[in-house]
Amino acid sequence: MTGIEELLLSRIRDVADYPEPGVMFKDITPLLADPAAFGALTDALADIAVRNGATKIVGLEARGFILGAPVAIRAGLGFIPVRKAGKLPGATLSQAYDLEYGSAEIEVHAEDLSAGDRVLVVDDVLATGGTAEASLRLIRRAGAETAGVAVLMELGFLGGRGRLEPALQGAPLEAL
Ligand code: AMP
Repeated sequence: MTGIEELLLSRIRDVADYPEPGVMFKDITPLLADPAAFGALTDALADIAVRNGATKIVGLEARGFILGAPVAIRAGLGFIPVRKAGKLPGATLSQAYDLEYGSAEIEVHAEDLSAGDRVLVVDDVLATGGTAEASLRLIRRAGAETAGVAVLMELGFLGGRGRLEPALQGAPLEAL
């Protein structure tokens, strides 16, 4: 394990049975409270954005906002929020997706993405990959390209990488 991997891992708290029985919740608040760790994470994600030629950062509500916004500033790129349905005031594109039980919907302001943009999606945890996959669909429907998906953590046993692969169309999924 590299130094940065050890630092990041040491600042993530496992909370058993939250928010429901059987889930091991990955709590990043200790990492956010440590400026050295948060700064190292921001630098590493910004490096992924630059390396993959991103022109915009999309952050997924809500922890993707906390991580994505400083990455956008560090990389000198615009930040675009992808929100849960009903939160954005302007004209939106919406994308529904399936959850284990039921479904969810995310939205982006239509004017925020267009042809010529290469968009990196940032979030804290890739679990089933449903949210990230829906965001890649939104990006493509807006006419933009994807520069990939960058997350702090990938929960490999949930198979999110496989689910995302078709929507990535060759772009990378990078988990720190
Ligand atoms: P998914 O769509 O299943 O990949 O879920 C991803 C979203 O749910 C991310 O925005 C995560 O913040 C959150 N999430 C899912 N599982 C966990 C977990 N075990 N710990 C913390 N966050 C999680």
